Amino acid sequence: HFVSRKISTEACKWYQAIAEKNAVVNAFVHVTNVPKPSKAALPLSGLSIAIKDNIATKSSPTTCSSAMLKDFVSPFDATVVKLLQDSGADIIGKTNCDEFGMGSLNVHSVHGPVINPFTPSTVTFEQRSAGGSSGGSAAAVAAGMCSAALGTDTGGSIRLPASYCGVAGLKPSYGLISRWGVVSFADSLDCVGILAKTIPEIRRIFDTISVYDMKDTTAATPEVREQASRELQKRLKTWPTSESGLLSLEGLRVGIPQEYFPLELSSAVITPVRQVISALKDRGAKIIPVSLPSTSYALSAYYVLASAEASSNMARYDGVQYGMHIRPPPSSDLTKTSKIYAAARSVAFGQEVQKRILLGTYALSADAFDNYFLQAQRVRQLVKDDFNRIFRMQNFSGPSEANQDGADVLIHPSAIRTAPPLTSANRDNSGLDAYVQDVLTVPASLAGLPALSVPSRASSEQNGVDDDGWPIGVSVVGQWGSDEMVMRVGEAIE
Ligand code: GLN
Repeated sequence: HFVSRKISTEACKWYQAIAEKNAVVNAFVHVTNVPKPSKAALPLSGLSIAIKDNIATKSSPTTCSSAMLKDFVSPFDATVVKLLQDSGADIIGKTNCDEFGMGSLNVHSVHGPVINPFTPSTVTFEQRSAGGSSGGSAAAVAAGMCSAALGTDTGGSIRLPASYCGVAGLKPSYGLISRWGVVSFADSLDCVGILAKTIPEIRRIFDTISVYDMKDTTAATPEVREQASRELQKRLKTWPTSESGLLSLEGLRVGIPQEYFPLELSSAVITPVRQVISALKDRGAKIIPVSLPSTSYALSAYYVLASAEASSNMARYDGVQYGMHIRPPPSSDLTKTSKIYAAARSVAFGQEVQKRILLGTYALSADAFDNYFLQAQRVRQLVKDDFNRIFRMQNFSGPSEANQDGADVLIHPSAIRTAPPLTSANRDNSGLDAYVQDVLTVPASLAGLPALSVPSRASSEQNGVDDDGWPIGVSVVGQWGSDEMVMRVGEAIE
């Protein structure tokens, strides 16, 4: 069928992989029609890109993995989708995720959990989480079902699944990629990002979609982009690139934040991260220990702020004008809008979303506001200050000064462990255990910094350094606007 339509063999390969593997992996929730062969050669021609199901597409539903939006088809494409298509990419389908992006294991989905497609040679078959919330996007890339995928990352949702599935995932600097048409979870943190097998593929897509969009009110202005990019170009000149990436790392200052090796970190993760650090050193990088003292408060602050913003964003799904409509039981007073509202929200939102609405509403209530919401905002500022103090480049997105003796990038483990097994406990209620998975990813989100997770080479060479043979991701974090530097260092690790 595909061949008779004369689509490229490349695209044919993706559709075949979806047909073979998706029933088990559950990465795609919607597959689009076979594309027409494109005529003109454009920058992204030949790429088949999967889109997380919280990014609006008019050619297929956008459910956010929620019963609330099960029949929703957007009347417009998100800016990122339009940019991809205008550059010649095919949108191959929509990917599974945690409901509205809330979760770390991709188990909170009306479409069911995503099963990690990685298969370690050492172990008998075991179902593990693909990570979340962009688990479908990471699994689709890992299983060879698309060239690359878009995800969203609010507190780690690209980096965590990338780490668990053994692929690369970039959360860009906040405000560089348009959020217009992306369903809001926590606006001050939400970023669209890219997952692919290699950094050059990520770069190719990043360069196409990181453009100013006046429809996104939180987009970084052209002036700020220009300032950061000018400064970055100066610094990048020091590290000439070849076709194969970095030639030398002489002069690069790599910071190792001591707080990113917490008690929860599985000991098996430490060795591959150390190997990455010494490989960078061998290529000329200077390794410097750094301290980000507010790190231990970041996770709690993140969950207060993200839930507060989510509670406000979720208010639009009232089951009256927007979202699934449920008729309240006949015994209830139908004239009361609140009954209709409660009936829809109790049925159509999953447990985790309901929990966030309650947490967030409480944090914003008059009694709790100072102790929770404001306190979390203060912690957020401290986290930002920590980063600004240790980076060599100035933060052009806010007030900061450059630290000449600081670091160009930071390196740390992406996650505290390998992909967690999909036990019934994890499937039903991932609770606090799931929240702890984000401890290493949320600080960069609070500060809006670019962060890239790449599979550690050590883990791929030995088919997983962890005893169980599963992938281990290493994160590279940079100053705001230094996404290209983060990608270049990622290439050196890859
Ligand atoms: N796991 C985090 C949460 O549930 C992050 C989610 C995300 O980045 N979308 O809030």
